[in-house]
Amino acid sequence: MIGLILGIVILAIVVIALLLVGRAQSDGGFERIVRCRAGHLFTTTLVPGASLKAVRLWKVRFERCPVGGHWTIVAPVDVSTLTPDEIAAARSHHDIRVP
Ligand SMILES: [Zn+2]
Repeated sequence: MIGLILGIVILAIVVIALLLVGRAQSDGGFERIVRCRAGHLFTTTLVPGASLKAVRLWKVRFERCPVGGHWTIVAPVDVSTLTPDEIAAARSHHDIRVP
């Protein structure tokens, strides 16, 4: 009985996560430009409370940089501090589309 309830709860969490990802991808609401420790700029999907591809410690994320091809700590960047060229470069590099 407990196993069944646990299964239903896990299924509900997975369905909600997939709905969040689908909505985020359709409106770009969770797309954020981040910078890795090596200074590479790229776009990632940040969903509050959900992260399958990155290890999150507080506000710091540890994930794979698609520009340098290395694992690194990434931090969100204030887009207003970037030049149009930097924004275009960051938008052209997107990690896997999973939060
Ligand atoms: Zn990098």
